Amino acid sequence: MTRFAKRLDQIEMSGIRKIFELSRGMTDAVDLSLGQPHFDTPPEVKKAAIEAIENGHNRYTVTQGRPDLREALNADLEKNFGFKKGLSMATSGAAGGLFLALAALVEAGDEVIVPDPYFVLYCHLVRFFGGTPVLLDSYPDFRVTPEKIEELISPRTRMILFNNPVNPTGIAYTKEEVAAIAAVAKKHNVLLVSDEIYSAFSYDFPHESMMRHYENTILVGGFSKTYAIAGWRLGFAAGPEDIINKMSMMQQFSYVCAPSAAQVAGITALELDMSSYIEPYKQKRDMVYEGLKDNFEVVRPQGAFYIFPKCPRPEQTMLRKTLDAVGEGADQEFVRRSVENKVLVVPGSACSKHNSHFRLSFAASDEDLKRGIDILNRIARY
Ligand code: PMP
Repeated sequence: MTRFAKRLDQIEMSGIRKIFELSRGMTDAVDLSLGQPHFDTPPEVKKAAIEAIENGHNRYTVTQGRPDLREALNADLEKNFGFKKGLSMATSGAAGGLFLALAALVEAGDEVIVPDPYFVLYCHLVRFFGGTPVLLDSYPDFRVTPEKIEELISPRTRMILFNNPVNPTGIAYTKEEVAAIAAVAKKHNVLLVSDEIYSAFSYDFPHESMMRHYENTILVGGFSKTYAIAGWRLGFAAGPEDIINKMSMMQQFSYVCAPSAAQVAGITALELDMSSYIEPYKQKRDMVYEGLKDNFEVVRPQGAFYIFPKCPRPEQTMLRKTLDAVGEGADQEFVRRSVENKVLVVPGSACSKHNSHFRLSFAASDEDLKRGIDILNRIARY
């Protein structure tokens, strides 16, 4: 038997796998499980990447990213995130930025406050680097408040891993809320890693960055969602100079640099106005919320492209009792039924310690959304 590193002991495959085994071979299922936009990459961005490859941009770049990309990025960060002081760097996706931030800052004994529900990577990364995720239960309204943070602060608290807008709940935080969260972090002198990858997807008010409120913020973001280039692995991190320098050093010895052709195309991407691509998502948000609210207990999303409804009436079904006996949650049962009825969604327990909800991605065509909503309502009623 292969002996694996102990640090992997606490990392397990997500429960999503089991469910998706069920959908294998289904050709006509509506897939509302995806974590990426359904629109195609803008033609200008595709062209820029192709030309970059043809023009020989195929070698390593400096670790922190091409100077012309960083210049464009800094201007964008200043405008949209209030970035004034510190450094920025290009990373291999926001996931790469999160990996480097935690690699540089978290060690054994450190506690990291992670709002629950969370993006699936967070707890794994914290544990991977020897830290302890301390879950902040944000149910039932899914909002992080200063009071909830205060309750969890201990002498070991190293950072808060904040996400805005939130995957999987679609919550977006107002300026006042962001300011209040920043104030608690400041009061206790803890770092804030702020994952703002969905910043372009804010439907009810302009996105408010944590950077505008707290100097010890490490902002993590990316190009995957805004420009529909998730497979190109281009993201960024920005924050205090000493921290970004250490993260660059770690990148040098791990991913080396973000893909070079993607970096060149990233400059073109930053020049684009994506509003015509993103605008329809507001109607999609309305469509899923209005479509589900009568049969599901659900919080109206304000950003990202997810909705996180509660699985209906789990306690009443016979199947529920059987599943309880084998230790499966309401979400597993509901998602199993929805997959059997050809709608793919993600069980909430993949991104939470609770197993009462499910995640639906509305990054899909209106036609697919309508079909998915109809089927989910039918299942909920039966
Ligand atoms: N953070 C959140 C909250 C996400 O949902 C995702 C992607 N699903 C990422 C980070 C990773 O994005 P990237 O493709 O830039 O690594």
